[in-house]
Amino acid sequence: MAIHSTESWVVHRGGCHCGRVRFEVDAPAAIAAVDCNCSLCQKTGYLHLIVSRDRFRLLQGRDALTTYTFNTHTAQHLFCATCGIKSFYVPRSHPDGYSVNVRCLDPGTIADLQIQPFDGQNWEDSIEGLRDRDAIETQ
Ligand SMILES: [Zn+2]
Repeated sequence: MAIHSTESWVVHRGGCHCGRVRFEVDAPAAIAAVDCNCSLCQKTGYLHLIVSRDRFRLLQGRDALTTYTFNTHTAQHLFCATCGIKSFYVPRSHPDGYSVNVRCLDPGTIADLQIQPFDGQNWEDSIEGLRDRDAIETQ
């Protein structure tokens, strides 16, 4: 029933640049990532892998994280206070889950990477399609 049910799932590990923040996430080896063009993601080059909360585990670095919010202040943009890298955060589209930065994953576990553009500059008009897509993936 679920699109990814026959695909292999793996544990991806990743973190910030200096190594204080480390996490692991359960996801398919073939990743469907979202490339958002909003004012913040465009500047950081963030590549989103959105997962439910129970598929994400922060291994270390909770004390190293600083939070930035803007606009609706729903999203909790977490970045390492030492190296400045945003390796994961709580996204506005899925406030009960996490978005992991695919660019911050360790090499070796990604079998394939599909990138889907998301028009974050017109967030309200674009979000329904993203939610539908993720509902399929997380069944
Ligand atoms: Zn760091």
